[in-house]
Amino acid sequence: MGVYLALLLIFPFISIVSGSFYDITLQGESALRTVCESWRLNAEMGNVIGWVVIPSGCEEYVSNYMLGGQYSLDVDLMVREAMSYASKLQIEGDGKDAWVFDIDDTLLSHISYYSENRFGATPFNKSSWVQWENLAAAPAIESVALFYRQLVSGDWSVFFLTGRSEKRREVTEENLRRSGFTKWTGLILRQEDEEGLPAKVYKSARRQELEKAGYRIWGNMGDQWSDLTGYSTGERVFKVANPMYYIP
Ligand SMILES: [Mg+2]
Repeated sequence: MGVYLALLLIFPFISIVSGSFYDITLQGESALRTVCESWRLNAEMGNVIGWVVIPSGCEEYVSNYMLGGQYSLDVDLMVREAMSYASKLQIEGDGKDAWVFDIDDTLLSHISYYSENRFGATPFNKSSWVQWENLAAAPAIESVALFYRQLVSGDWSVFFLTGRSEKRREVTEENLRRSGFTKWTGLILRQEDEEGLPAKVYKSARRQELEKAGYRIWGNMGDQWSDLTGYSTGERVFKVANPMYYIP
């Protein structure tokens, strides 16, 4: 029993060394779930980075996580924490208290797109993504939308900072409005000279511009660590769960 337990515990780590960490289908369903859970947690924490697809064998796990209720619970709790934090701040009310939101999988949900694309088990496909984006049909993530409505009905300046190109402004605004995001102080998209920049570099520079314009960024919410790290990150950051893809 002791030997079995020890093997069970060290097997994934042996596999990391041998490069087959994600070839875990032989371990049975419960062990697979445990290893996929461990991967998801470490990806959320920013320990596992640079991945192009989710681990082999974890598609069903990610599907269950996204659709089975846990994802919604995790996002709801994050939103409650953000609401609690925002409600306790003594903001000046001079129009310079700012909250920054990412758009994709922060305000707008792309679960339906990813459910048709194996929950990130296949590499990002730009042409199918653009087709989806052109529909401007991504629904709001409801709990985040609720928080957004609280902010815009108060004294907050709300900025949307997205990795989407300026060329996509029209379809982006259409989707935002259709999903209930009708008011913002700024919608910031990538300009031509920013197209090649990593999200973290581009977004940091744009947040710094807001600060230079006198805005106090109290909160910053995004589904990627590249939304939330770098500089001028904001007083607090809130990470929306997303185990489906990684953006540097
Ligand atoms: Mg995003």
